[in-house]
Amino acid sequence: MADESTCGVPVHSVQEEYFYLMVHPCDCGGAWLPGDQHVERTARGLVHHVRASCSACGKDRTLEFGLPGGDAPGRPAAVREINPTAAPSKAVDLAEWMDLARFYLERIGRLKDKVRKAQSLLDARLCLEEALKFYGPGDDAPPAGALWSDSSRAKVAAQPDAFRRASVEKMLGRIPSKERLLKVDGPVQKEFESGIREEARRRTRERWKFWKWGRRK
Ligand SMILES: [Zn+2]
Repeated sequence: MADESTCGVPVHSVQEEYFYLMVHPCDCGGAWLPGDQHVERTARGLVHHVRASCSACGKDRTLEFGLPGGDAPGRPAAVREINPTAAPSKAVDLAEWMDLARFYLERIGRLKDKVRKAQSLLDARLCLEEALKFYGPGDDAPPAGALWSDSSRAKVAAQPDAFRRASVEKMLGRIPSKERLLKVDGPVQKEFESGIREEARRRTRERWKFWKWGRRK
């Protein structure tokens, strides 16, 4: 069974799986709630099987993600790291990364807590950085290969200026650097760091139960 299975949706990290689930909800529009999961070592790499149920209609589905191998499979080198490589994602397309970035930027207005705001800015920054990886050296508009669905193509056609490389870079330029977001000044810093750890725990252990299988024996 193991060797015959495909590697599923290729991802660089569990964080990337999380974003994939966010932009690919159930057909009814409901968000997926991850449940049981396990990792399988196959001849072609690691496959993360995630059982998910729709929060709206209750439909069950099993998703398969292909994770990079190594000592700590799928484990990001840094907190919240999505994709340490310069290669664009194969799971989430350019327009979807922009949707995610806008979601995190818009959320900031609704958040009161400084730490949560910084976390949201960091997520927005990382999603914009992923979007930028799709532009080739001479590309101003998104290249055709960066948009994988009619929905993504329609979004870019409706707002071509918003998807120009310069626009994405401008958005990125307004967000503090990753280093600064990770080192919020003074007394907030500790709170920020523990907030990030808490968020990572929530995402990776409670929600994904990732470290459970990610730990080496
Ligand atoms: Zn549903």
